[in-house]
Amino acid sequence: MLIVMHQHATDEQIRAIKDAVEAMGLRAEPIPGGERTAIGVLDNQGYVDDSTIRELPGVREVIHVSKPYKLVSRDFHPDSSVVEVAGIKIGDGQPPVIMAGPCSIESEQQMLTAARQVKAAGGHILRGGAFKPRTGPHSFQGLGVDGLKFLRQAGDEVGLPVVTEVMRIGQLEDVCRNADILQIGARNMQNFDLLKEVGKLDHPILLKRGMSATLEEFLAAAEYVLAEGNNRVILCERGIRTFEKATRNTLDLSVVPLIRKMSHLPIIVDPSHATGNRFLVPIMAKAALVAGTHGLMIEMHPEPEKALCDGAQSQTPDGFAKLMKQLQQLGDCLGKMNFD
Ligand code: PEP
Ligand code: MN
Repeated sequence: MLIVMHQHATDEQIRAIKDAVEAMGLRAEPIPGGERTAIGVLDNQGYVDDSTIRELPGVREVIHVSKPYKLVSRDFHPDSSVVEVAGIKIGDGQPPVIMAGPCSIESEQQMLTAARQVKAAGGHILRGGAFKPRTGPHSFQGLGVDGLKFLRQAGDEVGLPVVTEVMRIGQLEDVCRNADILQIGARNMQNFDLLKEVGKLDHPILLKRGMSATLEEFLAAAEYVLAEGNNRVILCERGIRTFEKATRNTLDLSVVPLIRKMSHLPIIVDPSHATGNRFLVPIMAKAALVAGTHGLMIEMHPEPEKALCDGAQSQTPDGFAKLMKQLQQLGDCLGKMNFD
């Protein structure tokens, strides 16, 4: 970290900064310049909280050299991480992994039908929400623990691992018992207590980007999970809130290559929540593949017009099967091309 002082900062102010840095157990090295003095902060192991220093008299600017994430960064861990679940590998050098299923688990029959359709089309992982983070309290909130059981049964029946969202610590036991991957939804990306708790588990974590989270905040959220010892994190871009109203969110596809460069963790894309529009999902799914995603999360419902949640963005079973074929063809093409 570099603390840049105002042009007319006094020796006393510079000394006060040095004292404050040393009080944090770090070393401060003033670097006098032609116009102003800068103070280099040394001996820190990672990102330094600058909140007290920034406000001290004479400070013009604080420049960070270290990022608020270290364990997730490629600098620290140059080799790409591949997350494996039930024999399916997600990450560099692996074919894209497709997670699909309804937004919400609505009944035993609905989940089983969806599971058979996902499996028949060639999907790899089954999704379904039992605990639903709905904007309004009067909307369907999910079937809870019963839903988890229907998801597990359906996954077992067709031979697919399952992913589902956990919203709070109290749900962890039930979710861990019934799911192969735990999803932390966009609204909980900065639920730090929950992140710390899932960091103590062995289950892979699918961490969705918060709807207003910067890339740095997204990676810092993943850092919470890794900092507790769980390295099995899959990141998921699911669109961010912008001024544009034509789509539910704005799919920020450029984070895919950026994350692949900055982090060793796998990154997947959810074009369903990103667009909110059944028609846009297939084309954005293909665009995500071209951008280098390690996988996709796609909502599919046996009868989208009857869905209790997110029907408008859900693929029909036929639409999903068609998309899977196109993804396969595109994957074959991409494998023959060299984008480097
Ligand atoms: C979901 O996957 O069902 C979901 C609610 O997604 P997000 O957290 O991205 O809104
Ligand atoms: Mn949904």
